[in-house]
Amino acid sequence: MEEGGKITTGPLNRGAHKNFWKLFWSLNVPSKICHFIWRACIDSLPTKRNLIKHVSIPNALCERCGSEVEDLAHALWGCIGLKGIWWEIDACRARVGSPSLLLSQICKDARERLNEFQAATIPLPLSATASHPTRWLPPSPLHLKANCDAAIFNDLDCPSLGSVTWNSEGLVIAALSERVTLPPPVDDLEAFSWHRSVTFAIELGFQEVIFEGDSVVVYKHLRTTSPSLASFGHITDETRNLVSQF
Ligand SMILES: [Zn+2]
Repeated sequence: MEEGGKITTGPLNRGAHKNFWKLFWSLNVPSKICHFIWRACIDSLPTKRNLIKHVSIPNALCERCGSEVEDLAHALWGCIGLKGIWWEIDACRARVGSPSLLLSQICKDARERLNEFQAATIPLPLSATASHPTRWLPPSPLHLKANCDAAIFNDLDCPSLGSVTWNSEGLVIAALSERVTLPPPVDDLEAFSWHRSVTFAIELGFQEVIFEGDSVVVYKHLRTTSPSLASFGHITDETRNLVSQF
C-alpha cells in the first residue's frame, strides 16, 4: 500500500480501521450477519484448519470435497462443492441488468428474511438477574470452575472479556483478560465471554470444568437443545458444542 510516496505493509491508519469497525457494527442488520463477517475477517470461523488447533479431529481436510484443507478461503469460496452456489449467484447477477425480476426479487427476499428474523427473535428480559442473593461456591475436588464475564469500559470505548479458573480450595489456577472488537449489545458480549472461557479451558487442557457466568439470558440460550435464534445464537450454539467435549 502506498502512503506519502512510501510503500507500507502494515495497517494504513489505525483510526480509520477503528472507525470502519465502529461504522460496521452500527449497521442496521442482524448482528449475526455482522458477527459472521467480522469472524471471517479475523479468520476465527470454525473451519477445520482452525478447529484442529483446539480439538482432536483426524485431519483438516474439507468434508465436502475431501481433497483440500478447509481454511477460510476454501470454506467460503474455493471448495468445488460450492460451485453450484456461486454459479447460481453469477446467473442472478447476469440477469439483474435485464428488465425482468431479479434485483427486486433479491431485495424482496432479503426483506422477507429480515422480517422473519425479527419475528423469530423474541426479546428476552434484559439484565435478568437472580432475585435472591447468591454466593460463590468452589467446585468439588473432582472439578474446576471457570467464571466468565464481560464489561464495556466507556472511557476507553473498549469491551473486554475475562475468565478465572478456580480449584476446589478456591485458589485461582488460570486467568484470562482480553480486549475485543465487538458491538455494544451486552448480551452478545456476555455470550462471547462464555465462548472464550470454554476455548481458554480447552487450550489449557483442563477437563471436568464447571462454567459459570452471570448472564441469565445467555445461560438460557446455552441450555436449550435446539439452535438459538438470538442475535448471539451462533455463539451459544458453538459454545454448547464445545462444552459437550468435556
Ligand atoms: Zn472442499
